[in-house]
Amino acid sequence: MINLASLLEDSARNHPERDALVLESRHITYEQANAEANRVANLLKERGVARGDKVALCCPNIPEFAIIYYGALKTGAVVVPLNVMLKEDELAYHLRDSEACVFFCFEGTEELPTGREGWAAFERTSSTEHFFVVTAHPDSPTPLSDAESFASAIADQPGEFDSVATEPDDTAVILYTSGTTGRPKGAELTHANTMMNAIASNRLFGSSPATDVHVVALPLFHTFGATVQLHAGFSMAATLLLVRRFDPRDVIHLLEHEDVTFFAGVPTMWWGLLNALSEEVDVDRIARNLRIGVSGGASLPMAILEEVEQRLGVRILEGYGLSETSPVVTFSQPGQRNPPGSIGKPIWGVEVKLVDQAWRETSEKDAVGEIAVKGHNVMKGYHRRPEATAEVMRDGWFRTGDLARRDSDGYYYIVDRSKDLIIRGGYNVYPRELEEVIISHPEVSLVAVVGVPHESHGEEVKAFVVRQRDSTLTEQDLISWCKERIANYKYPRLVQFVDSLPMTATGKILKRELTAQAP
Ligand code: AMP
Repeated sequence: MINLASLLEDSARNHPERDALVLESRHITYEQANAEANRVANLLKERGVARGDKVALCCPNIPEFAIIYYGALKTGAVVVPLNVMLKEDELAYHLRDSEACVFFCFEGTEELPTGREGWAAFERTSSTEHFFVVTAHPDSPTPLSDAESFASAIADQPGEFDSVATEPDDTAVILYTSGTTGRPKGAELTHANTMMNAIASNRLFGSSPATDVHVVALPLFHTFGATVQLHAGFSMAATLLLVRRFDPRDVIHLLEHEDVTFFAGVPTMWWGLLNALSEEVDVDRIARNLRIGVSGGASLPMAILEEVEQRLGVRILEGYGLSETSPVVTFSQPGQRNPPGSIGKPIWGVEVKLVDQAWRETSEKDAVGEIAVKGHNVMKGYHRRPEATAEVMRDGWFRTGDLARRDSDGYYYIVDRSKDLIIRGGYNVYPRELEEVIISHPEVSLVAVVGVPHESHGEEVKAFVVRQRDSTLTEQDLISWCKERIANYKYPRLVQFVDSLPMTATGKILKRELTAQAP
């Protein structure tokens, strides 16, 4: 028997008194978290949920997320984590597409009306039979008077449960991702996929049991936070300090006052932390405890990496992965820093090759190809989408849509996502390369480069730029800066200064939105 829930059960057995989940003044130990998860499992069993059934979960980073997640797994059910920012139509789509029979939904807040949207989605989805509203504080009254309260539903359930035996190849979670095209598709990850990737990650992080304290700012419904913190962290009995929404000042406060040893974030989070560091912050105290920083999910510009390492005194390890690969594919080598700009080498149990459109391997040194992955981490396929699965999988290999090159030492370098590639007058322009040049300008704070339609060139290169505070940088200054550093066909002809960039809930820059709004 192999069940992802055993990660929690082991830690509850070996470190019962250690804090598993902390949110503001709420502290939940491993023993309590496991007992709560058992109550959830008993509730689900009582409602007829059995192995293979789908349980949708739409919550921000609150303790209930972890408790429901592991409780559902214990019954052999499949967890379908959903982004808390989804609206009614999107939620209804996900409920239907995943065939979820139960929906645990956060009550919502004024700015995040998840509960209302979720309830409306549930009411129009006949295949979803049960709805539980989850409140941030178990004692608070539920805002949806017709909905069953999660806290009351589990209150009288027993705190013991014998987890259902599952096969390694049983699906454990379905993660919705847009992939490279089309409507969101559910990547089916098995118990073996997720457990092995968590264990491999711990090896790379050099984690030891019951020592790490994580700040959890990545949303747990996304593969990055789920693997690094909910799976890998829980298996090592780490304490997870939950942050409901990433606010760099809150995170810095925790880093400073809670002896945090581990922080994982997407590049915009690292950037946010740097911008929020002030004279009053006790950086030495942070540096004394923080043993490791992990970046992933998007390219970390060298300028940001170096500044974080220098100012926070922490080594940043960079990894690359996707929802479909559970997620980690490549990572820094243990004890070593990646060469500048590299995403590291394939991790244990994972093979990588670079392929062309026809799946032929590109073997020349430094040739750019699409990353294809084979190994313990590759999903079973997209839920109920055989054609979409066949498009990206062949003989156990999964093609990622990301373009990369490999150096003679076997390190990989992301060149760009194939769909972000700009083709300007027949020349390939890789936005990432240009972004590195623009962000190295001392007056630039953040940048995203996209292609916009152009009559004669097909596409034109456009940069959206957030300037440093008080900067007087002009469009012409920036264009000259680029022209001095890169080939003529690549520099941005269009520059637009903006106050901020649109981001996903994880903190990745939403290039699609920029492309849509660009003239
Ligand atoms: P998701 O499935 O939401 O995790 O998104 C996966 C995508 O994020 C990948 O296909 C890459 O395009 C991007 N990505 C993840 N890690 C990195 C990284 N270290 N550098 C560049 N892009 C990355």
